[in-house]
Amino acid sequence: CRYNIKHFYEVYDDEEEKIQRREMEIIHDMHTAIDKKQFTVFLQPKVNLYNEKACGAEALVRWIHPKKGMIPPNIFIPVFEKNGFIADLDYYMWEQVCILLRKWIDEGKKINPVSVNVSRISLYNPNLVHKLLKLINKYGIAPQYLHLEITESAYMTNPSMMLMIIEDLHKAGFTILMDDFGSGYSSLNALKDFPIDMLKIDMNFLPRGSMVERSRIIISSVIHMAKRLGIKVIMEGVETQEQRDFLRDLQCDYIQGYFYSKPIPVTEYEDKYINLMDF
Ligand code: C2E
Ligand code: CA
Ligand code: CA
Ligand code: CA
Repeated sequence: CRYNIKHFYEVYDDEEEKIQRREMEIIHDMHTAIDKKQFTVFLQPKVNLYNEKACGAEALVRWIHPKKGMIPPNIFIPVFEKNGFIADLDYYMWEQVCILLRKWIDEGKKINPVSVNVSRISLYNPNLVHKLLKLINKYGIAPQYLHLEITESAYMTNPSMMLMIIEDLHKAGFTILMDDFGSGYSSLNALKDFPIDMLKIDMNFLPRGSMVERSRIIISSVIHMAKRLGIKVIMEGVETQEQRDFLRDLQCDYIQGYFYSKPIPVTEYEDKYINLMDF
């Protein structure tokens, strides 16, 4: 028993050490990564459930590391949220999306909104609205083409300040989406207090296993409630036709998930969703 505990701690220490080492490498490489454009935009289409057509996309970051290959965001985003670098990465991603929208407009393509993620740190920067406006003006993008995804937990950090931020973003013409809805413990309060435009239901609510009936009841109530509040609803993480049909029956507005497409590189997105679009 004694041996087992000692063994456990040795393994645990190894793991801890590995995580710490990895964190240090991430911090060491992050500035070069921005300079060398190793962070890359992937796009995941959002589909309108009324006509089954792609109606926009979410931009998700991927780190294409020269030695380590593609690193998924769950490895480095938490590190950047701790050390503040997430603000730089957010801004970089917003600019890449503006550049992309500008390119499509110049090519005469019909464009749909692209949503970007706004971390808590970016959100509470008093310059946020100014920064965003400066960026879209630089590329001549109308604000309705840049949707802002703000994770639910960020709303409660400072609710009264958050309310002012949302009002300013609305005045500037931006669309605000509450991401990961239902993942925290104050979801209903957030819904009550903030005039958001769209909510994205957290994928953990999707029916699976033995709790199917409970999930169904909760999702249908959230959709019903949002509709009465005049808020659009999108469901994330939709993987099966059964889930899609269920959401369509409930008149969910939009869905996003592997059922239609994984997040894909920009060129692939252009081939599938932009170049073929007639107007
Ligand atoms: P999120 O904003 O909630 O994004 C949804 C995540 O679910 C994405 O993971 C997406 O690839 C994944 N996903 C989409 N469809 C499905 C599906 O059908 N099934 C499953 N199981 N997963 C699906 P990803 O790309 O690994 O991103 C993870 C998180 O990292 C994001 O969660 C977001 O919080 C953060 N993130 C990603 N890109 C950025 C960024 O540019 N800036 C910031 N601040 N955060 C980002
Ligand atoms: Ca998101
Ligand atoms: Ca989400
Ligand atoms: Ca999430």
